[in-house]
Amino acid sequence: MSARLLDGRRIAGEAQRDLVALATASRARYGRPAGLAIVRVGKDASFEVYLRALQRASEAIGIALSVVTLASESDNAALRAGIEALNADESVHGILMQLPLPPHLSQRTVAEAMDPRKDVDGISLRSAGNLFLRFPSFVPSTCAAVIEMLDRSGITLAGRHAVVVGASNVVGKPLAFMLLDRDATVTVCHIYTPDLGAWTRQADVLVVAVGKPGLLTGEMVRPGAAVIDVGTTVRADGALVGDVDFATVALVAGALSPVPGGVGQLTKLMLLRQTLRAQQTLVGGATVGNGREVRDG
Ligand code: NAP
Repeated sequence: MSARLLDGRRIAGEAQRDLVALATASRARYGRPAGLAIVRVGKDASFEVYLRALQRASEAIGIALSVVTLASESDNAALRAGIEALNADESVHGILMQLPLPPHLSQRTVAEAMDPRKDVDGISLRSAGNLFLRFPSFVPSTCAAVIEMLDRSGITLAGRHAVVVGASNVVGKPLAFMLLDRDATVTVCHIYTPDLGAWTRQADVLVVAVGKPGLLTGEMVRPGAAVIDVGTTVRADGALVGDVDFATVALVAGALSPVPGGVGQLTKLMLLRQTLRAQQTLVGGATVGNGREVRDG
């Protein structure tokens, strides 16, 4: 078997066209573009790459992007004050915090301080609780990108077995809840999971988000499964690689989202889509959230 390649660039092109239309309509309706503020403490080289990509996409879509840089020696009180100033700024509809924070700062400060209506990367306590309880919620953009990739590729989830490798707060855990929300049977694997292949071989849909190149090989995949590689590692030679051993997995999987050229293309667009939704919520009185079906209980 040879896997169908899920082309992140093509799917991102489709998603971006939809966002241009949404942003144009919102600007006409609310009289100003949606505003996204990015908060960083000092500068981080890999975040700078993401920031430049966000700046290009914001410009193309029509979202006003601003960057607030706090001094590296800022303490938790200064960080909280910076976020609260953006909470109160009516031109800002979405806030993205550069993570990870320097070690002397607490992520809890951000999780508590950020207005959940502006939390377009789904990191606040309220967003996490909403997701857990199946209330409308902003979600981490990487997770939204995985779901978007599956949806736009016609890969269904209801009644299927989804296995997520990786259990972090920003990818693995929230993604597991989103897959559960789509009626998949979900298994989460992590560093203490013995015999990883015994679990991954059971997956109809397999998402790998670890950051270990070559972790998933062909013999760990059920023939015909859909495999989404989220991991990103920059090798010593400068090449960007995922967690999936492409050569062996492509022979077994039914569909494969590669790195590069897969979900990474969609992540920034999902953040911008959630910013447009935040504007609808804050200015237009729409329901908070990412537009997914809402079910109580
Ligand atoms: P993270 O916080 O380091 O979490 C990695 C997770 O993988 C942890 O849950 C860890 O388990 C688990 N793990 C580590 N080694 C493992 C192993 N051998 N077998 C199974 N599980 C293992 O990383 P993250 O922030 O979730 O990001 C994961 C990857 O996605 C990274 O490569 C990151 O660069 C990439 N990423 C890509 C995008 C994108 O847009 N493309 C966005 C965000 C992240 P424990 O919890 O037990 O330690």
